[in-house]
Parts: sequence; C-alpha cells; structure tokens
Amino acid sequence: MTFGEIAQSRLHEIAACSQAGDGVTRLPFTPEHRAALDQIRGWMEAAGLQVHMDAAATLVGRCAGPEGSKTLLIGSHQDSVPGGGRYDGIMGIALACLALEKIRREGLAPACSVEVLAFADEEGVRFPTALLGPRVLAGTFDAAALGLADRDGVTLGAALAGFGGDPARLAALRRDPAEVLGYLEVHIEQGPVLERRAAAVGVVTGICGIERNAIRFTGETGHAGTVPMADRRDALVAASRFIAAVSEQAGQTNSIRATVGSISVHPDAVNAIPDRADFPLEVRSVSNEARQGFTDEMRALGNRIAAMPCHSR
Ligand SMILES: [Zn+2]
Repeated sequence: MTFGEIAQSRLHEIAACSQAGDGVTRLPFTPEHRAALDQIRGWMEAAGLQVHMDAAATLVGRCAGPEGSKTLLIGSHQDSVPGGGRYDGIMGIALACLALEKIRREGLAPACSVEVLAFADEEGVRFPTALLGPRVLAGTFDAAALGLADRDGVTLGAALAGFGGDPARLAALRRDPAEVLGYLEVHIEQGPVLERRAAAVGVVTGICGIERNAIRFTGETGHAGTVPMADRRDALVAASRFIAAVSEQAGQTNSIRATVGSISVHPDAVNAIPDRADFPLEVRSVSNEARQGFTDEMRALGNRIAAMPCHSR
C-alpha cells in the first residue's frame, strides 16, 4: 500500500469510532474517544513514537531529537462536530504519524524533537467551552471552565478526570515558547476553493478573527389585513434590507465573510406585522482592522435603515 492508501484506510477505520447516525459524531471523554485513542496510539507506535496521554487527555507521541533541540508540535483534534466529516481534525493526526513513519522507514531522523498531539476537545460541542488542549499548551486555559457542565450535568473537570486526565495538573502543561520550534497542523479545507482549483494543498497565511454581534430591529406590530402598507413599521422588512445589504457589501470585499445564520421574529405569527427581529451578525476576517471597519459601517447602515420612513424601506 502507498502512504496515501494507508492514510485512507486508517481514516476510514477510525471513522467508525462514532455514535450511531450519519457522519462522525465523536465527543470528548466518551467510549468513542477512547476507541479512537487506541487506534491513534497504534499509528504513533508504528512511527516509533513514545506515547502518553497528558493531564488534558491529549494523546502525545514524542520522537526525541538531538540533545537540547527544540520541539516541533504537529497536531489536530480527534473530536468531531455532530455528524461531522471523516477528515476533519483527525486527518492532521493521521498524516503527522504517517510522515514520521515514512521518515523512520527511510532510516532518517528529524533534526529536532517532534511531538504529535491528538487534542481531546477542540470543537466545544459537549461543553460550552472549546480548545481545551491547545489552550492548556499555550497557558491560556481558564480553570473556571472546568466547572462548565454538559447537558447531563457532568462537568468538564469530572469528565476529564473520569477519562484519566488530571484537572489539577493542567497549568503544568504550559509549554515554554523558547523550547517550541513551531506548531504545524494539516487540516481539511472546509470550503470549495481548493477543489474548484483542483489544488491538492493550500498554505494557510492567517486565521480569521470572529466577532458576533446581536442585532435587533424594532417596529410596531399590527394586523396583517387592516394596517395599510404605507403605515407599517415592519421590523422584519427592515432586517431583511439590512441582511441583504450586509451580504452585498461583504461580497464587494475579498477580506470579509459576513453571515446571518438565524433569526427570530416577534410575535412570529402568520397574520401579524413583526415588531421585533433579532439575529446574530457574524463577521470574520484575517484582518482585525478590516473586520472592525466593516462592523462600524454595518452599524451605521443599520441605523440608516432603521431611520428610513417605513414606505421607503
Ligand atoms: Zn477541524
């Protein structure tokens, strides 16, 4: 088998470590997580790595380099969103292990230490907090998150401890930047661009900052039959104009992604003019400046639409 075929077969096999249903559903600190770590451990051992699970339940496979060498971290998340894809996250772990296995088979050795990391909880699906493993390594994990509970009332701290982690030792996992050469992650592209260009690989040049703004348009409710069109203050009509304008204006940039993914309307009845429309506006950009500038413009636009006489909205 080629390395590509080995990667495909491993990714196919580990996709079965999932709750029943469509796609891959693998939440942290569950039997599916445990079963996945058993397979990942096998991949790491095949690459000649020394394997252990750290206090944050990150599975770590280490290949020690020359004395005093820095460590290159290569990793990704083993967990998934509900009904997720079979390449998301886990591919970055599988390919890192295979790359090191190839180097080993060819009788070569890396010029630095290398650690492959399989993070327990990146997605933030089970608990209302995300990126446990990476935050712990960066020293930015807020211990208060250990008290956050899942739907069944199990806290992150209890789930982690029950899985063999150690909430009391998380702070000790912080890496000294002086000892780290860098961090590398291979990740599936979650968009259409590479496929459209028939490009196998793209190099990430930045990570989007995300901001979410809660937007509300208010108007006046009334009966759908008796209030003349010219007399209406329909909050949903104003919101609709705003949402369409946001999408248009973001489309004229190449640096902004702006999305309204949900909306709630009051009174939410087929024969009532809406007096309230609430929705989140999510704005992403690799440039903080561009993102903030766009959000300011949209705020001004929202105010202009809200101030328009109802019949010209
Ligand atoms: Zn991912």
